[in-house]
Amino acid sequence: MDDLEYGKRNKRGDWAPSATLAIAPFYALPPRPLAILKWLPGYFLPWNLLFAASAVAYAMVVLPDVEVMKTLSWGWILRLLAVNLVAAALFYSAFEYRLYMTRAQGTRFKYNAKFPNDAKNKAFLFSSQNTEGIIRGLGTGVPIWTAYEVAVLYAFANGYAPWLSFAQHPIYLGCLALLVPMFHEFHFFCIHRLIHWPPLYRWVHSIHHNSVNPSPWSSLSMHPVEQLLYFSSSLIHVIIPSNPVLAIYQLHYAGFGAVVGHIGFDKIETSDERAFDSHAYAHYLHHKYFEVNYGDGLVPLDKLFGTWHDGSPEGDAQMNARFEKRRARVNAVKAAG
Ligand SMILES: [Zn+2]
Ligand SMILES: [Zn+2]
Repeated sequence: MDDLEYGKRNKRGDWAPSATLAIAPFYALPPRPLAILKWLPGYFLPWNLLFAASAVAYAMVVLPDVEVMKTLSWGWILRLLAVNLVAAALFYSAFEYRLYMTRAQGTRFKYNAKFPNDAKNKAFLFSSQNTEGIIRGLGTGVPIWTAYEVAVLYAFANGYAPWLSFAQHPIYLGCLALLVPMFHEFHFFCIHRLIHWPPLYRWVHSIHHNSVNPSPWSSLSMHPVEQLLYFSSSLIHVIIPSNPVLAIYQLHYAGFGAVVGHIGFDKIETSDERAFDSHAYAHYLHHKYFEVNYGDGLVPLDKLFGTWHDGSPEGDAQMNARFEKRRARVNAVKAAG
C-alpha cells in the first residue's frame, strides 16, 4: 500500500498520519449521533472484539470448575500462568515477527523509521529493548496479571464478589461489557498520571519510557509496581456486581491490549490493498513527548486537563506553550527563592 496517500514522511523517514487524532465522539455537545455511528466499527474492530472473544474462549476452555477455584491449590494456578505466558508470548511475538523481524511491510506506516533493536542501547538490560521487554513482560508482567486473575476468580468462586449470570442479567452485563474499554482507560489515565509524578516517575515509570521508539515487547516492559497498578483495573469486577468473564475481558484488555499502543505502525497491512488501523498513534506520541496523551482519547480526560495532543502542528504548539508556561513558573519560583 502507498502510505503517502494517508500521511507524510519527514526527511528522517518518520511517517505521520495526515488525519488528526480525535477523542471519542460521545462527549460532543450538541450530540453527534452520526459521528458516533461512524466511529463505532473502529471501536469494536479489531481489538475490542478480539479481547472479548479471547475472554469467552478462556472462560470456556481454560478455567477449571468453580469447586476447584474455591481453593488456592497450585494445580489450576500454575495452569493459568502457563496458558497466559504462552498466549502473551505468541500474541506479542506475532507482531514482533511480522513487523520487526521479517519486516513484512518495511517502514510503510511506521512512525519512527528506525527499528529499535538494530542498535544496542545501554538504557536497557543487556542493551536490548526486546530482551528487557521479554524479561519484564514474561518475568513479572504475566505473573502479576495471573495473580489478579486468580484472586478475582477465587473471590467469585467463594461468593466474596457478587456474581451475576448472563442468563439473568443480559442487559446489565452487556452494558458493563461495553464499558470495559472505557473503564480500562479511565483507570489507566489515573494510575498513569500518578506515576508521572516525578519521584514515582524516576523510581517506577521511567523504565517503561526507556522505549522512546516502542515496539511490541515494550508493552509490558514496566517496573513491577507499575504492573501491579496496571492490572488492578480488574478489581472493579469484585467491587460492583459482575461476572468472571468480564473480569477476564478486563485483564485481556490490559494484558493483550497493551500491545496496541506499542505496535509502532499506524496500519497493519493484511494484503497489497488492505490494512487495518492499529490505533497506536496517541500512545506513540506519549512515548515520543512524555507529557501528552496519558490516555488514548476514549475518555476525554486529556482534553479536560489540557494534555491532549492530536498529532497536528497545532497540537505541537499547544504542548510547547504548556512546557514554556511551566518553565516560566519554575524559573519564577527559583528567582523568588
Ligand atoms: Zn507505553
Ligand atoms: Zn507515561
